[in-house]
This record gives sequence, C-alpha cells and structure tokens, in this order.
Amino acid sequence: MIYKITTPTPFAVGDVNCFLLKGDTLTLVDAGTKTPEAYEVLQLELKELGYTFKDIEQVFITHHHPDHCGWVEAFDRAEILGHPYLNYWLSRDQEFLERHDLFYEQSLHEEGVPEHYAKWVRRFRRSVDLMGNRPVDRVMNEGVELPGHPGWQVQESLGHAQSHLSLWNEREGMLIGGDLLLEKVSSNPLIEPPFRKEEGRPRALLQYNASLTRLLDLPVHIVYGGHGGEVRNAHALITERLEKQNDRAMKVLGMLREESQTVFELTKRLFPAVYEKELGLTLSETIGQLDYLISKELITETVDEAGVHQYASC
Ligand SMILES: [Zn+2]
Repeated sequence: MIYKITTPTPFAVGDVNCFLLKGDTLTLVDAGTKTPEAYEVLQLELKELGYTFKDIEQVFITHHHPDHCGWVEAFDRAEILGHPYLNYWLSRDQEFLERHDLFYEQSLHEEGVPEHYAKWVRRFRRSVDLMGNRPVDRVMNEGVELPGHPGWQVQESLGHAQSHLSLWNEREGMLIGGDLLLEKVSSNPLIEPPFRKEEGRPRALLQYNASLTRLLDLPVHIVYGGHGGEVRNAHALITERLEKQNDRAMKVLGMLREESQTVFELTKRLFPAVYEKELGLTLSETIGQLDYLISKELITETVDEAGVHQYASC
C-alpha cells in the first residue's frame, strides 16, 4: 500500500510529496524540508494514518535536494537509505564540500560569468541548513531490491540530481519517481559536482534524457512524483518533454549560428528576466542544451586563452 503525504517547502516549487510504503517493513520515501512547518504536517499526516515517527523503520531518500531529505533525524528508529552521493551531504563531508566550492568557482569561470557573481559559489550550498544531518545507513544502488518490499527495485535515475534514485515495481507498473517525471513542470538538469573527483562535469541533461528514455521501454502505469499529482500518461508526457527540450536546443543553435558565445552570454539572452535571480538554474539549463547540441555534433566547444569556453555552430 502507498500513502501520499504532502508537506510545505519554502521553495518556489511549492509542496513536496513523501510516500509511506506499507510492506514487511514500514518505509517512508523522502522526508520533506527541515522546517518546523514541514515537521508539524509530517507528524499530523502520519498520525492520521495511525503512526508516529518511531514506527517508521526505513527512510528511503530519492535525492539530496533539501525539500526531499530534510527530516531524516526525526526518525531515530529508522535506517536511512539512499545513493552514496546523498551521504556527502547528509554527513557534511568536508572534503566534498570544499571540492563542491572549487567545482563551482572553476565552472563559473569556464562559463564566462563575470567576477562579481562569485558570491554564487557559496549560494550553491545555501540550503544545507534545510537538509538532514545524519549519515546514510544503507547505500542503495541500481538494481537492488528495497529491503522489506519484495518487487520494489532501485533504479538509478541521474540527471536532476547526482544522487537521484527511483523505486520501480514492474509487476504493478508503479514508479516512485522523486523529481524524475513531474506532472506539471519539467525537472531542471542541475549542474552538480561529480560523484568522484577524478570524473569530469556530469552531462546532467544527457543523463536526465537517458533516465526518462529508459522508462519508455517499461510498462509504466503510474508515476508518484515528488511534486504535484500522479502521472498516468507517462510515455506520452516523456515524449512531449523530450520534444520540448529538443525545441529549446534548436533555439540555442539558432543563436549560435549568428555568432559564437559563452554559456553566460547565452543564458542572458535566453532568460533575460530571471538569470540574475536564478543564476544556478538558468546556467544549468543553458549548459544542458549545449551538451545536447554537442552530443548531436551540431556545435563545437573551444577554450580561449583566458580559459573561457566558447560555443559555435558547426
Ligand atoms: Zn524536489
């Protein structure tokens, strides 16, 4: 049995969904944002289902963003399950956090972002206070079964986050999808540091497209998403989202046919009204389209003498 619990967030996305899975084990999928408001709602909704925080035996986290992994400490009798990347954040791994800041410093430079935006490096980890602070007890990887829930399998579905996991039940055609496929909005392919430091920047949009495309080969009947209502037309919605993304990429290609440009220059043109307020999101969106165009061999990337990346149409 699946029960949906919706809690408030302080973010533009609005409410976030958690799911209570009743099997041999009582498992909560995602844990809201670490705000007093979300705690109260979580407590109340669990009570209505006949439970307290102490009854939860496992908390499975779909990804490390603060609206999904906030209240892990509230479940002191539960094991925390998630991707190894999630553990960097939940355990506040210092080596990782330093690498995180360096990664963004270097990325902003390569993207041609002017120096006075350097404060964004710190802002990229500003929500850490709204995330839980307790290590992952059990690392989950692609293909493993969710303990206590025969038939529920872990799918690695990277793209929106480098820690993103979904839960797939093939027999029932049910997917608990985190932010992989949302009813009303398309997920941002956020640029995040790689899992291992020797790896290069993840091609988040390409990962995301692969995670979505994989679902087209599966008999998906219903998707329980992290925000909004359930998706019952997954295949049609995925096709539509992939087409829209292709359209956005073609718009970027048109701009590059006029002249070669940097990520920052393109971002300003694509998102003139919001780029300053939402620099991280908008840069990620632009980089995604560029990675996509490179993968289709429609554009080239060169590095100028200052170390800034320039993009030109082929
Ligand atoms: Zn989310």
